[in-house]
Amino acid sequence: MERIVVKFGGSSVADGQQIDKVRAIVAADRRRRIVVVSAPGKRREEERKLTDLLYLCHDMAALGTSIAEPFAEISGRFALIVAQLGLSPALLDELDLFRAELEKGCGRDYAASRGEYFSARMIAGYLGGEFVDPAEHITILPGGRIDEDSYRALGERLRDPERLYVMAGFYGSDPAGRVVTFSRGGSDISGAIAARAAGAALYENWTDTSGILMADPRLVKNPRPIEEISFREIREMAYMGASVFHDEAIVPVREAGIPIRIRNTNRPEDPGTLITPQLSPASLSETEIAGIAGRRGFAMICLEKSLLSKERGFLHRLLGIFEEHGVGCEQCPSSIDSISVLVEECRLDGLEEVLCEEIRRRLQPDSLVVERDLALIAVVGEGMVRTIGIAAKIFAALHKAAVNVRVINQGASEMNIIVGVAGKDYARAVGALYAAFVPEG
Ligand code: ASP
Repeated sequence: MERIVVKFGGSSVADGQQIDKVRAIVAADRRRRIVVVSAPGKRREEERKLTDLLYLCHDMAALGTSIAEPFAEISGRFALIVAQLGLSPALLDELDLFRAELEKGCGRDYAASRGEYFSARMIAGYLGGEFVDPAEHITILPGGRIDEDSYRALGERLRDPERLYVMAGFYGSDPAGRVVTFSRGGSDISGAIAARAAGAALYENWTDTSGILMADPRLVKNPRPIEEISFREIREMAYMGASVFHDEAIVPVREAGIPIRIRNTNRPEDPGTLITPQLSPASLSETEIAGIAGRRGFAMICLEKSLLSKERGFLHRLLGIFEEHGVGCEQCPSSIDSISVLVEECRLDGLEEVLCEEIRRRLQPDSLVVERDLALIAVVGEGMVRTIGIAAKIFAALHKAAVNVRVINQGASEMNIIVGVAGKDYARAVGALYAAFVPEG
């Protein structure tokens, strides 16, 4: 039988009511045999996420401060779920042991991982599934890479196609066997690893929005959900700030050619967004593009030097200076005698002076200026490859909205066009681009 891996995010497992929805979703399709869960998320905007409380407890314990207050909130959340689901309170005794571990100074990752651990234990009990501890099967190498053998080991653990498994997301162990977590939101990665390990036909990622939207809803009113998007497009969108799905989670499923569907636990009838290796011809829709994503908070270091284009290795030396200082570069727009380097603004904190000094000393530019508060906006879509007029539409829309374009970049893949604008123009630019590509109604 084909299997589907279903991953539920924090808001989908925030309390007993939500976990009831999880149960109904799992029961609605026999192929949903592997469930991966996050730690309980927020029930209300002002509430704290369980993972945040766990980090807080760890840090307070490390300072020798009492963790009574945040720990009471953690155990209160779990106790409520146990009561709402009618589970055995025995699980709560384990929480007391965990508190002692926190007070003795357990590792930070271990502390954070207990949100997912207890969540999965409870949900396994409620669904009548088998609990799977990822620390026993997923090895995370330094730098966050997954040891390839994890797929074999986890596949072996999940081998029975008839059985229901419930695995904790967000963590694994390092080669020495210590618990380590992925970066925040990393349960998406765990779900993707489980999908690849089990050879699943589909990876469903259940969250609290009905798929990925064509633009940020804080900037555009009621943006359309994307019906279908390719792995390549989603990488571009995620990198440029479209959230919903952890960008590193794409790698394991993409390598195995397993499609992902993003769905809404609160509206299971909605189709959500399908992320596929290959777009169906029908999905190259009337909008010509998949979506618009962007981020503020970039800075541009602009250099001018006469006859720069004749100097061999100039760009290499320039980027070398950034590398030496551990500053990653995002884009390098250039003209004949000038080069600019775009970086995340926060990377310059405390380093701007040193970096500029070094560039002046080693490359002797005629001028060097740093521009701050820039935003990058990517218009993404495989449909734009060799389509005439996309760039014209973009720049006409920005012109009409009186937005000055500071940077233009189109990669050779022709999958996106990136424009850089002043931070103050960001929202207006995104709104204008959306209106230009998406017909109303
Ligand atoms: N609970 C973790 C976090 O809040 C991981 C996750 O939910 O994916 O980041």
